[in-house]
Amino acid sequence: MSLPSRCAERPTAALGIGGAVRPDVLRNPFELVDLQRRRVEYLRLSVTDRCNYRCSYCMPAAGVDVVPRAELLDFAEMVALTRVFVQLGVRRVRLTGGEPLVRRGIVDLVAQLAAIPGVDDLAMTTNGHLLAELAAPLRAAGLQRLNISIDTLEPAQFAKVSRGGALQPVLDGIAAAQRAGFAAIKLNAVTLKGLNDDALVPLCDFAAEQQLVLRLIEYMPIGVDAFWGPETWLPVAEARARVSAAYALEPDDSGEIPGGGPARYWRGRHRQSGQELRVGFISAVSEKFCEACNRVRLSPTGTLRECLSARGALSLRDMLRAGATVEQLTAAIRDAMAGKVDGHAYDAAVPTLESMSAIGG
Ligand code: SAM
Ligand code: SF4
Repeated sequence: MSLPSRCAERPTAALGIGGAVRPDVLRNPFELVDLQRRRVEYLRLSVTDRCNYRCSYCMPAAGVDVVPRAELLDFAEMVALTRVFVQLGVRRVRLTGGEPLVRRGIVDLVAQLAAIPGVDDLAMTTNGHLLAELAAPLRAAGLQRLNISIDTLEPAQFAKVSRGGALQPVLDGIAAAQRAGFAAIKLNAVTLKGLNDDALVPLCDFAAEQQLVLRLIEYMPIGVDAFWGPETWLPVAEARARVSAAYALEPDDSGEIPGGGPARYWRGRHRQSGQELRVGFISAVSEKFCEACNRVRLSPTGTLRECLSARGALSLRDMLRAGATVEQLTAAIRDAMAGKVDGHAYDAAVPTLESMSAIGG
């Protein structure tokens, strides 16, 4: 694919932006900059809307309707669109879903994405259920980093929160990922009042023993059904207070933890054993971080979401299937990004109605 000449000559002028972009991000001649001058260099690519779990915070108990297979992007389309995003300055790609490991041929897709020049960081978020077998092939195919979701270490509680998931395969998957040589593996846990808030300190203990980074994620009102509400939502400050009862916490501004995402990291020291912990807190609702947002999302059907809360109006799949050129795709992405909102309104209790599994987290 050739570079679009208009963008090569006038990188940000197409958006009509004057003034300086954020100075803390390296300049890139083809950067994607929105009207708030946030530089977008991170693509979350959702590779499927299917999932083998039904997590209570992610989808309704009955599950969600999945789209017909023909509507999903195929691998060639994902690779072509990723190349376009890389030309626009994206350097980091994260595969998500649904559950990315249920997409047939996922190892092959990883190999194709890893081979794209300019993809400096290729990562995946997974529930880990199928990871025991796939960790080594994924690593060999070029996957660099893994985030593994695990909301509790108690099997019955795990089955309840994930609605039918099983803890042991996930633990086996974490062990396999460590053996396969993934560096800086992160564990993700969504914090839920009354469901797993008693599991946060044991998760910290596990992460500390295994020398893994734990991220505690505030529950977001996405795919809202009867489940989200004051009975289940735990403010991040409360999660932090529970952790700090067991661990002395100090902010970690070292920037050592790779990812550049929204987590605010802390170093912990166990108050009795002295065991060290690295823990991040992600709070989209009570401590929203929209002003630092550096990401764009592509749904499994090829719809661009410039914000998690956006409905997504641009179908890059339809453009590709209609024979759009790279220049046309680039221009459409730039236009859509110009409409990236200042921030979501979850803090004002305005939910996103589509389920997280369909959006990609
Ligand atoms: N299936 C994979 C997994 O669970 O890791 C990847 C997709 S999942 C949608 C991506 C991330 O979003 C997971 O870490 C999950 O815990 C998180 N998540 C899902 N629904 C959420 C919600 N309503 N609020 C906050 N985080 C959520
Ligand atoms: Fe599936 Fe991940 Fe959603 Fe759980 S959080 S239902 S594993 S997509």
